[in-house]
Amino acid sequence: MKMVVLGGPGAGKGTQLMRIAKKLNMVHISTGDIFRENISKDTELGKLANTYISKGNLVPDSVTCDMVADRLKKKDCETGYALDGFPRTIEQAKFLDKYLSDKNEELDAVIDIEVDDSLIIERLCGRRICPDCGASFHIKYTIPKKDGICDQCGGKLIQRQDDKVETIKSRLEVYHRQTEPLKDFYKESGKLIIIDGNGSADDVEQRILNSLGVVE
Ligand code: AMP
Repeated sequence: MKMVVLGGPGAGKGTQLMRIAKKLNMVHISTGDIFRENISKDTELGKLANTYISKGNLVPDSVTCDMVADRLKKKDCETGYALDGFPRTIEQAKFLDKYLSDKNEELDAVIDIEVDDSLIIERLCGRRICPDCGASFHIKYTIPKKDGICDQCGGKLIQRQDDKVETIKSRLEVYHRQTEPLKDFYKESGKLIIIDGNGSADDVEQRILNSLGVVE
């Protein structure tokens, strides 16, 4: 299965894909995670990406599309993949369409997880992530068993630089202006599935699995 997951920052894309990607035999590819890995390794790509990410802006399409094309060529993508945070612009969506059609392939589903802006701000301000395994926690809602430590791998939890309130506001503005139009783009292809992203992670996961007709 090849899938795209859309949704604003903090909509729960990463959380949900960490839950369902394995179940559906897909590799979870998060462009944000790839950028963050490059930033922490201080690569040229990381240095460039950070100048945009730290301000809540998008990394330019050409850079992002090249990076995704490289990632999709890897062998683990052959059984299926779920793209988290890509595409984020019409330009990127057109690039993905062409990339797939050149290989006589197409997306099986486009999931859009919808959450109100006010909840997004609350979720992101309190989010803490594990830089080692990518697990996500919240200071009020998903409290780790041991303060500041990842339940899954024991890594030290951090707040993402771009989860500060001013940057969150820019990210939301960028989302509404540049990424939301993708809903119409994918509606036309008949592949768009809208999921209510409010509520617990368990509830949202169940909604996604139901919408895909997955019986557990
Ligand atoms: P995320 O972890 O998906 O919230 O992404 C974190 C940041 O990485 C975003 O706010 C953007 O600055 C950048 N980023 C991630 N994916 C993309 C993309 N597809 N296009 C451009 N920038 C991206």
